[in-house]
Amino acid sequence: MAVQTLEQKLAILSDAAKYDASCASSGSTRRDSRDGTGLGSNEGSGICHAYAPDGRCISLLKILMTNFCIYDCSYCINRVSSNVARARFGVDEVVNLTVEFYRRNYIEGLFLSSGVIRSPDATMSDMVRIARKLRHEENFRGYIHLKTIPDAAPELIAEAGLLADRLSINVELPTDAAVAQYAPEKKPAQIRKAMADVRLRKEAAREISFGGKRPPRFAPAGQSTQMIIGADGSNDATVLGQSTRLYSSYKLKRVYYSAFSPIPDSSSRLPLVRPPLQREHRLYQADWLLRFYDFQLDEITSVTADGNLDLEVDPKLAWALVHRGFFPVDVNRGSREMLLRVPGFGVKTVNRILTTRRHRTLRYEDLGRMGAAMKKARSFVTAGGWSPGALTDSANLRARFAPPPQQLSLF
Ligand code: SF4
Repeated sequence: MAVQTLEQKLAILSDAAKYDASCASSGSTRRDSRDGTGLGSNEGSGICHAYAPDGRCISLLKILMTNFCIYDCSYCINRVSSNVARARFGVDEVVNLTVEFYRRNYIEGLFLSSGVIRSPDATMSDMVRIARKLRHEENFRGYIHLKTIPDAAPELIAEAGLLADRLSINVELPTDAAVAQYAPEKKPAQIRKAMADVRLRKEAAREISFGGKRPPRFAPAGQSTQMIIGADGSNDATVLGQSTRLYSSYKLKRVYYSAFSPIPDSSSRLPLVRPPLQREHRLYQADWLLRFYDFQLDEITSVTADGNLDLEVDPKLAWALVHRGFFPVDVNRGSREMLLRVPGFGVKTVNRILTTRRHRTLRYEDLGRMGAAMKKARSFVTAGGWSPGALTDSANLRARFAPPPQQLSLF
């Protein structure tokens, strides 16, 4: 193989990394070098966030160490049987790229993932060397997110947690059966054990010893995981059920949903169907409702008969449309729980409503100023000077929100 330039490697390995869903350096502890003792900071002014057209955050240098891989996961473009251009960065190349990009303020940190080369331990060991060099030799204080290899030795994952802000371990697919079918080299029990270890180490890092000593911080921005959706036949109820269990078992910061999007190549064992990114978007919305809006899983997933989210309208609106008996909610008297269920009301809007109505009666005009999306909310609330009348129960209410049906192209 011809020797590749750094630019060629970067082109291949940054493109390969776009299938890894990851975003947001929020949640980490403050680390700053403006006192002149190091390089970079993980928060503060001058950090910009950019998003790719598909909505993913690209403010980190997001690369694979290599897209060579000895595994053959059917849904992955980098599987050993895939016919793609390959490249591999050396440890120093990743370190230098990160430092150079950081100095130019192109990035706020590094997101590093990798295919498995030689063995899980050898791969993880190189990733840890990169993080170690950045932290200890370059005094790099920016954000580091490492995708860890679950089969790697626990001590390597432990060291990764001492160096990185966030660790993630991919659960891969919504069910163990799907993992067995499409990623046979991966072991769901091993993945769960690695996630449990990270949780335990993180909790142990919070405990102060009898002598008052604080242990070294461990993955201060927590752990996350990624689930590929659309590669197997799991419906949204199964996907969200799995993520609900993961959040509670491993105290995850985030479950990322990644729509399966194969690049057509002859070696794929999966049908070349690209499920809509809209599904991914709806899953994030539902995930948000489960975590911050007190919705229960079955409430969201029982709206449709097949356990899939309604793709035409967002999950909260879908729920409200089939539970119109709960509406309209009086914004001057309704409980917090019911206000949170009003389509178009976010948590901040509800908090503002609860605070303001202690002092005065809220009128319709107030709600827009409080951040409510009244185009959605107006059919589901009453307020001073406003009643939706027959609108709430009208037969064509859904049609007001759902996109009009489109004539499919015949050619
Ligand atoms: S181990 Fe990772 S990089 Fe390798 S084929 Fe599986 S998903 Fe792709």
